[in-house]
Amino acid sequence: MSNEQNVNPLDQYFNGEFPKQPQTPPGLQKDMNPVPDCGETSYVGNGQLKGKRVLVTGGDSGIGRAAAIAYAREGADVAINYLPEEQPDADDVKQLIEAEGKKAVLIPGDLRSEEFSKGMVEKAVSELGGLDVLALVAGKQQAVSNIEDITTEQLTSTFETNIYSMFWSIQAAIPHLSAGASIITTSSVQGYDPSENLLDYASTKYAIRGFTIGLGKQLAPKGIRVNSIAPGPVWTALQVSGGQPEDAIPEFGKQVPLKRAGQPAELADMYVYLASEKANYVTGQIFGITGGTPLS
Ligand code: NAD
Ligand code: MG
Repeated sequence: MSNEQNVNPLDQYFNGEFPKQPQTPPGLQKDMNPVPDCGETSYVGNGQLKGKRVLVTGGDSGIGRAAAIAYAREGADVAINYLPEEQPDADDVKQLIEAEGKKAVLIPGDLRSEEFSKGMVEKAVSELGGLDVLALVAGKQQAVSNIEDITTEQLTSTFETNIYSMFWSIQAAIPHLSAGASIITTSSVQGYDPSENLLDYASTKYAIRGFTIGLGKQLAPKGIRVNSIAPGPVWTALQVSGGQPEDAIPEFGKQVPLKRAGQPAELADMYVYLASEKANYVTGQIFGITGGTPLS
């Protein structure tokens, strides 16, 4: 017998053809059509992160924004990092965090710099009065069809953003983290089954998996947990700003078993869970939120 309370995952969110809408990276999600759903009007908190101090990279838009909103609604003070050109998206997130009566700290800057990555953590620690959760969500993805056309500039930039900054920011964070702290990285289905046009990006996502598992072992004796979330296709600024070829945008996400792109809001609960004490027996793991594509 059917139940009217059930929501069909196939049509819970937008499942039509996305309009083509190229932007220059990193892109602004406020200019997207449809605007990604980061839980602005839907995420309901339950005090799960009361008193926690959280830093989210890529917190202006997409998956990081969904995490930042959820963290504030769960009772955390939240610092977000983003690129200076993303200030309009970041300003919205600040308002949403402050609407929960929580502290919002904006730390614009480029993670490809070691000095900035480490300084970002120090600023978050001093403004929040400490650090309990480090959610590393920022990432760079630019599709290129032929390996011969991947410039050294792009290769370096992708690895600096997705890999080097992860080392630098965690190095700076460790002295401030105590038992019960949580580090969350962001991998991808691309770290399991790479697309032919995302070689540099997919390589970094494979690396993030290995890094997360190894660091989970290294930090376990300190009571610090390290886990990763591997999203499938999610409707965000990254994808319309060169993450996909423009021609792939209308059908974006249709190839997964659930036949639509995910929305950032659908990732928020996992970022909250991994940050919370409910996940205190969970480390060195990778969690897929993929629309049904297996992680294997
Ligand atoms: P997004 O564009 O909304 O967020 C990515 C963010 O990365 C940007 O907002 C930007 O602030 C940040 N960033 C990029 N380069 C930076 C730099 N040099 N310095 C500082 N910040 C920088 O897109 P998103 O899809 O929400 O991406 C979030 C994460 O999710 C990324 O790690 C991405 O690889 C991962 N991911 C996304 C998808 C997807 O389909 N959207 C799938 C799997 C994994
Ligand atoms: Mg952004």
